[in-house]
Amino acid sequence: MAQQTGLHVAGRWQTGEGEIENRNPSDVSDLIGCYAQASAAQLDEALDAARRAQPVWWAAGIQKRHDVLMAIGTELMARADEIGRMIAREEGKPAAEGKGEAYRAGQFFTYFAAEALRNQGDLAQSVRPGVEIDVRREPVGVVAIISPWNFPVATPAWKIAPALAFGNAVVWKPANLTPASAVMLTEVIARQDIPPGLFNLVTGSGRSVGQRLVESRTVDAISFTGSVPVGRGIASACCVNMTKLQMEMGSKNPMIIMDDADLELAVAHASGAAFGGTGQKCTAASRLIVHEKVHDAFVDGLVAAAKGWKVGHALEEGTQIGPVVSEGQLRQNLDYIGIGKAEGAELLCGGDRLERATEGHYMAPSVFAATRNDMRINREEMFAPVTCVMKAGSYDEALAIANDSEFGLTAGIMTRSLARASHFRANMRAGCVMVNLPTAGTDYHVPFGGRGSSSFGPREQGSYAAEFYTTVKTAYVAAGNPE
Ligand code: NDP
Repeated sequence: MAQQTGLHVAGRWQTGEGEIENRNPSDVSDLIGCYAQASAAQLDEALDAARRAQPVWWAAGIQKRHDVLMAIGTELMARADEIGRMIAREEGKPAAEGKGEAYRAGQFFTYFAAEALRNQGDLAQSVRPGVEIDVRREPVGVVAIISPWNFPVATPAWKIAPALAFGNAVVWKPANLTPASAVMLTEVIARQDIPPGLFNLVTGSGRSVGQRLVESRTVDAISFTGSVPVGRGIASACCVNMTKLQMEMGSKNPMIIMDDADLELAVAHASGAAFGGTGQKCTAASRLIVHEKVHDAFVDGLVAAAKGWKVGHALEEGTQIGPVVSEGQLRQNLDYIGIGKAEGAELLCGGDRLERATEGHYMAPSVFAATRNDMRINREEMFAPVTCVMKAGSYDEALAIANDSEFGLTAGIMTRSLARASHFRANMRAGCVMVNLPTAGTDYHVPFGGRGSSSFGPREQGSYAAEFYTTVKTAYVAAGNPE
């Protein structure tokens, strides 16, 4: 058995109560390591330490917080290649994408380093003469962060960076499928001159560590990214404890392809957004709503593009799509292929497991045509390299189909008409709308989030992140008479 990689609690690396094996989804014979599982006592210790460290960090001031965040961001960017390779090895995205993710994580830290300096308040006049009012933002306190495996460094980065920038302490539970990336990010943060216990890594399963963290009365705020069912459970616990909550969850992102679209570009964007990252993105294009006049030509192009992707080992030169993250996820994906066929959808390509030189969880990019929006494959998030095409007779019909979903994260339209693009931007019920762009791919300095079951609570990222990571205090001061 490999030596256990520990967790980071109260300023110290510690061994866990138990451990899990972490294996490479591109090659299951590659054991990345054994990773600690936090005990209940270790989680409680992390929460106590965070509570003590938080006021020290707030008192340290904005220059200190700026400097620490800049140092973290700069190191992540400088080491993007090395960290990106680890992301690729344990999550399965191609190394170039892993590198891009690590670099972007660095950008979140440098962006929020500057936001730390901009934490300004407001002055207001009082209706009572002689009274002064100011409104200022203070930290919420101890923030619990629960993150998924699909962006194992970028997602926690866009939560940890604002939490620290605005003076909070953090207890982070990463996904158990990607502990190695979590340890690498923690090493960079823990190396900084920060109060012991300000930042804690509590690796472990959602059912044990996650659940205990969520139910803790000593947590002031929870930021979660993951599935809707787990999100619902977290929301219930937060209602009981009155904990501030922000969540990003599932999606079923539509992309409308109009009859006046640049078809070649539409195929490229749809294929990239549907299959990039093995389809394991909350911004993936999973419902393609195509005008009947260009339907057949678009579908031919999409199937050719789907077949053209090079699926292989994430660390191999030339790989464009890596494996599915785990055997369990692959099984779920193949189940959805069966569900789609049973519902009467036409599988035009893919749908099967692929054999490669190493034993991994490979799946061919898959296109379903002749689908209806009421089919399960168009209603439930698959998180798979599978996309579904629907035909529409008009823009109005396409928009109605696009809006008919419990989710509302991202949505796109491909059209040359400015009037339609403007109408879509105004009438599409989604947190992010894309015109002549893929549904996936967002910037790091502007808000990100959705509507309906996709999101809950204040937005993440950009200056809007202050809404969640701070609490507002209104101070009334009687000016008094000078003595
Ligand atoms: P989960 O929602 O199960 O997991 C997300 C995070 O929550 C993980 O850290 C997980 O821990 C943790 N968790 C699980 N159960 C609890 C709990 N009871 N209390 C607190 N934390 C908990 O998503 P999965 O990773 O299992 O993925 C399942 C599906 O969710 C995917 O197929 C996809 O549809 C969707 N998903 C969507 C994402 C998005 O960005 N929209 C991201 C990831 C998943 P653990 O380490 O044990 O998994």
